[in-house]
Amino acid sequence: MEAKNWVAGEWMIPNGGSYVVNNPSRLSEEVGVVHTSEEADVITAAEAARRALPGWAGLAGSKRADLLYKAADLLAARADEVAVLASREMGKPIGEMKGEVVRGVNLLRYYAAEGVRAVGSVIPASQEGVLQYTKRVPLGVVGVITPWNFPVAIPIWKMAPALICGNTVVWKPAEFASLTASAVAQVFADAGLPPGVLNLVVGDGAVVGQALVEHAAVAAISFTGSTTTGMRVATICAGRNMKYQTEMGGKNAAVVLADADLSVAIPAVVSGAFRSAGQKCTATSRIIVEKSIYEPFVDALSAAVRELYVGDALDPKTYLGPVASKSQYSKVQSYVDLARSEASLIVEGELQVSPDTGYYVRPLVVTGMDVGHVLAQEEVFGPLACILTADGFDEAVEHCNRTVYGLSASVFTRNLERAMRFLDAAEAGMVRVNLESAGVEYQAPFGGMKQSSSHTREQGQAALDFYSQVKTCAVYYGA
Ligand code: NAD
Repeated sequence: MEAKNWVAGEWMIPNGGSYVVNNPSRLSEEVGVVHTSEEADVITAAEAARRALPGWAGLAGSKRADLLYKAADLLAARADEVAVLASREMGKPIGEMKGEVVRGVNLLRYYAAEGVRAVGSVIPASQEGVLQYTKRVPLGVVGVITPWNFPVAIPIWKMAPALICGNTVVWKPAEFASLTASAVAQVFADAGLPPGVLNLVVGDGAVVGQALVEHAAVAAISFTGSTTTGMRVATICAGRNMKYQTEMGGKNAAVVLADADLSVAIPAVVSGAFRSAGQKCTATSRIIVEKSIYEPFVDALSAAVRELYVGDALDPKTYLGPVASKSQYSKVQSYVDLARSEASLIVEGELQVSPDTGYYVRPLVVTGMDVGHVLAQEEVFGPLACILTADGFDEAVEHCNRTVYGLSASVFTRNLERAMRFLDAAEAGMVRVNLESAGVEYQAPFGGMKQSSSHTREQGQAALDFYSQVKTCAVYYGA
């Protein structure tokens, strides 16, 4: 398997060097080779997208829709193959990865349907004989920059709405998801997307991503990744007066109140904190527990964490696999070391594989830190959750909001008034009651507040607002 560029309808090997990807579950196994691009490849891709734009934007929405439906059918037919490749490339357990591919199929179908939906409104004009109306027009060439943690769903939830709105795309995937990106691009190629409508350019963020944002002739950037990179991307886009959206990090809280049903709360907290080895932007990384139920909560959580199966991503029994890469492993391990030296251990799960075979990190729950401590403030992006305690509802909400991030938040309670007050007070773009902090559906708006987002939203109908602009039209046809 090779990751290479797909530009102007041709597969080509770029000249920026190459590296081998090893399976994070089994480091001795090579998954494929990624060929990396240079700045010139990005410029060429943007030019190809620019040339393809008039034809694609001018095509009837129903014809663009047909191609997205075709891509959906092909992806559905290749679901197992794509899921296995992604699991081997970035370590997401195969059950979750298959679910993600199905989500990609659903996203393609959802946005394909937009090709025949109404797009605008008729507004009464103040002059007789004038028809005044709005329509949505494409932005032009859109640059799409994606992370590795949802290697299929995130690219599709950006590209499908971009394409149905009539934009053409240059896609720069994450370094550790480039093989999967090539398989996804192949689906669009086989669906018959005209040359240049979608262009894949693989390579380093600092080279390819930076060139796409800074130098390429693109009208807009849609970025998902860390807050540090996203804020840099936003600054450059603002300087070029380009439309942008940046969906970034999180430090999401699950608040467990004294009246919570623990049989609902525990599995939701465990799933939120440890599925995908905690590598979700919406992962639960702070658990805020009302003091009066601290003991029973910790007992039940510890029992559940001890049961978790940590293994090879392709083993169907695996609940959490390895973290995605060597750099991820070092970063997560540094937080684990900090937790060992500065926090009190609650529970640490067991590995069902030998630790040396892959980038495995034991699921870990700690407590004893202040709400302002690094472990309670920085995004770990690994299987480490910290417990904070609160005297009651008000303090729990205060702790929940005491972060620069604002992506998602959950509350567990049987009290309707507290649930509704939490929905009002939580400073997060996605707030859930008796549900885990991760797991938002594709047909609903997705995005964060504060430093988690550029305050735009993805998925659902919200994506159409980003990938199009409103034109107000007026026609005088005679009084
Ligand atoms: P990252 O910021 O390192 O990289 C994201 C993408 O940006 C990659 O494709 C990378 O190559 C590219 N990039 C790197 N430097 C760049 C530059 N200078 N200019 C342009 N592009 C550049 O993030 P990551 O490690 O791939 O992903 C993990 C992060 O993503 C976490 O912080 C997580 O919370 C976040 N995330 C957010 C969401 C969301 O919707 N809010 C979803 C998934 C992941």
